[in-house]
Amino acid sequence: MAQGFGFTVHATDGKARTGVIQTTRGEIRTPAFMPVGTAATVKAMMPDSVRATGADILLGNTYHLMLRPTAERIARLGGLHKFMNWDRPILTDSGGFQVMSLASLRKLTEEGVRFSSHIDGSKHMLTPERSMEIQKLLGSDIVMCFDECPALPATEEEVAKSMRLSMRWAQRSRDAFGDRPGHALFGIMQGGVTRDLREESAEALKSIGFDGYAVGGLAVGEGQEAMFSVLDYAPGFLPEDRPRYLMGVGKPDDIVGAVERGIDMMDCVLPSRSGRTGQAWTRRGQINIKNARHQDDPRPLDEDCTCPACRNYSRAYLHHVNRAQEIIASMLLTWHNLHYYQELMQGLRDAIAGGRLAGFVADFHAKRAEGDIDPL
Ligand SMILES: [Zn+2]
Repeated sequence: MAQGFGFTVHATDGKARTGVIQTTRGEIRTPAFMPVGTAATVKAMMPDSVRATGADILLGNTYHLMLRPTAERIARLGGLHKFMNWDRPILTDSGGFQVMSLASLRKLTEEGVRFSSHIDGSKHMLTPERSMEIQKLLGSDIVMCFDECPALPATEEEVAKSMRLSMRWAQRSRDAFGDRPGHALFGIMQGGVTRDLREESAEALKSIGFDGYAVGGLAVGEGQEAMFSVLDYAPGFLPEDRPRYLMGVGKPDDIVGAVERGIDMMDCVLPSRSGRTGQAWTRRGQINIKNARHQDDPRPLDEDCTCPACRNYSRAYLHHVNRAQEIIASMLLTWHNLHYYQELMQGLRDAIAGGRLAGFVADFHAKRAEGDIDPL
């Protein structure tokens, strides 16, 4: 384990765990949800507001930041924490996933990926070594290995070939990362939905040795059932004394199911992105605030929620500012959604600590099944 980095499991309930990841920039309570700060901002939120929702850590995107404003510029300006005014932990992805989903004219070789920027067409090369260099320039606390995630649909042979390339890149990432006290490096398991490939990938990563381990290659369109069937066994291939991170997940019910299966960390753009399109997540499920049924409704989104959107504003107001495309619409719904996600994580942590996760999960599903409150 990297110096200054640690993970302590305080309680378990079934396969679920709750504990704390220690970093030099503060503790991360697990299971943890990480809001996504793509371009050095969680869109529509001030950093203090993100913290007020209960977030202990943010995610930054290597692909976006390397293109604009560039990692070198951020380093000259004192690193990503100072640049975006967030002094708590930051995890950065490796750029591998987004280069495959966003960039054009990609050429994948053993060396890495050559591509053109989706912003201005400029040519770039990402390799394990370059990804480690960029994440070092950004100053992220948790660095992710550079990996490749095959686009679906893919044959088992294609998934196997891609996974083995990612494992060679994992070794190169480890070598390039070197010894950096206070900074952790996580490996990423691949292998699609094939048990043997997942196990082979986990063995390869464990023999290299990482501070934490991610389950990659899920939440890419395979569906919840397939994802859960992989999570029924994949976390068990990873060391118990290291954090397990499920990348890019997810909807509230995905999160609950992943935590039940032994996942400690997750990230997703969903609460912030859907906040900008009029979608709210509550304990009663999903609400579209643009719907005409809200236009005369003086009640809050969620009567039990303590976020500023629910404490101070009616559904009618949120409906109005959304229809009028006012900036505050994105601010309030993003705040509410992030607050709801963090409250869900706190509920999961408390339930695991109290040995009552099954009851918590049953209540979670029952409340969602009731659906939104009746219209007035
Ligand atoms: Zn709220």
